[in-house]
Amino acid sequence: MSALDRLRGADWNCGSCGILHQGMFDLAAFAPDYWEGPRTYEHNGAVRLDGDFLSEDFCVVGGEHFFVRCVFEIPVHGLAHRFGFGIWSTLSRANFDIYLDGFDDGAYANMGPWTGWFSNRLALFEDTLNQGCWVQPRLGRKRPLVTLADAEHELARAQEDGITPERVLELYVAHGHVVS
Ligand SMILES: [Zn+2]
Repeated sequence: MSALDRLRGADWNCGSCGILHQGMFDLAAFAPDYWEGPRTYEHNGAVRLDGDFLSEDFCVVGGEHFFVRCVFEIPVHGLAHRFGFGIWSTLSRANFDIYLDGFDDGAYANMGPWTGWFSNRLALFEDTLNQGCWVQPRLGRKRPLVTLADAEHELARAQEDGITPERVLELYVAHGHVVS
């Protein structure tokens, strides 16, 4: 099976998950790399701004660092859909508050992009931790889109130029999936 066929929607058995993957799927970082708490999520609605907090979409560290779950999209050669990396970015406290206020309704018309710091390292890419980035909130409860401020960074170039289907499979392997 070619990498492109696989990502176009073929069923393939993953020897790691033990489940059938169908076509391309996104990868995601569970939390910002700075998170040292338990690997469990609280509910988004329980968000606390003092101390430490982690849910699917929000993270607070030490009551002073504020992170939101975003997506970094990369085009894949030959595919109409983009590959998505679920990653975390910081926001200022002020923008974090705005993001929380609008979250349930996705009410972010005419807002952003906001500045942030990319808060994960990604396997197989030049270091991205603490790279300056732009966080664009989206309407309709879609996660914010991220772009890197440094257009010459390897990950920014991947977003600009796209990556090959083979490269996507390498990313899956780097994240523990078995492609055979
Ligand atoms: Zn798998």
